[in-house]
Amino acid sequence: MAVPIGVGDSAPRSLTVLQASPRAFCAGVERAIEIVELLLERQGAPVFVRKQIVHNVHVVRGLEARGAVFVEELDEVPDGATVVFSAHGVSPAVRRDAERRGLRVVDATCPLVAKVHAEARRFAGRGDTIILVGHRGHEESEGTLGEAPEQTIMVETVEDVQRLSVSGPVSYLMQTTLAVDEAAAVVDALKARFPDLRGPDSDDICYATTNRQNAVRAVAADADVILVVGSRNSSNSVRLVDVARRAGVKAYLIDDADAIDPLWVRDAKVIGLTAGASASPVLVSDVLEALRGYGDVKVLEREVAKEDVHFGLPSEVRSR
Ligand code: SF4
Repeated sequence: MAVPIGVGDSAPRSLTVLQASPRAFCAGVERAIEIVELLLERQGAPVFVRKQIVHNVHVVRGLEARGAVFVEELDEVPDGATVVFSAHGVSPAVRRDAERRGLRVVDATCPLVAKVHAEARRFAGRGDTIILVGHRGHEESEGTLGEAPEQTIMVETVEDVQRLSVSGPVSYLMQTTLAVDEAAAVVDALKARFPDLRGPDSDDICYATTNRQNAVRAVAADADVILVVGSRNSSNSVRLVDVARRAGVKAYLIDDADAIDPLWVRDAKVIGLTAGASASPVLVSDVLEALRGYGDVKVLEREVAKEDVHFGLPSEVRSR
């Protein structure tokens, strides 16, 4: 780890760590991790998981150490084995492939992602062209797109919307982990282009994404710099960095306390701290401890919402 500035100084500096709340694990991530843990406990290793169960390097390493085997595609899973689908969901083609292979599937798709899939089926069923607002190549969007590939077009930006050439009824869906403000601009552009545009009954951007973005914005109002705990491939963690930067504050994505660069926090009086929905609260505590090496730390909490969301487990792992 980098050597903390302030160690060896004659008088330790005072600094405030302003923690965003809510932060770290969401209900969908907790559920997905619990599913793999329960399978490891009950049936022992190996437990095959298609893709990273959630986008966090520490979660993945921790489960790997206990016997989870993460694979990219189903052809890496032996015939007849159990395979867990990650929290980001899969396309129907992957489900069919698993069935054809005789694999026992335990589905850890977050129920809020499953809701978007159900909407895609409904919109496609009534003959709409679906505009999916999301990030190309992200597992969640790829899975949603797979519900109706011939009827779905993905857009990322307002410019993508301007380039669309679509006739007939149009509806839109969103990836659950988008930046709320950016997505709103894209949807506004869609509404301008397609006055009869229909959307989901309730927001696709999930409660956890929305709350964490609101919280980091609230922290940005008073922080000199913000540290976001999360992995690079975690869409909602990266969005927290984007939201903080758009609020005018320097922000850095770190996998853990070891990744703190002393230069980032050297001159800060108030350091904001948060974590993406796939990052463990333990990692946040570790970062807080590391920051104590930089001076006398006062810890404050900026809470914008309370979360008490909990999702039930799938029948395959539920206790009887
Ligand atoms: S970020 Fe939202 S959609 Fe994704 S797993 Fe968490 S609750 Fe579910």
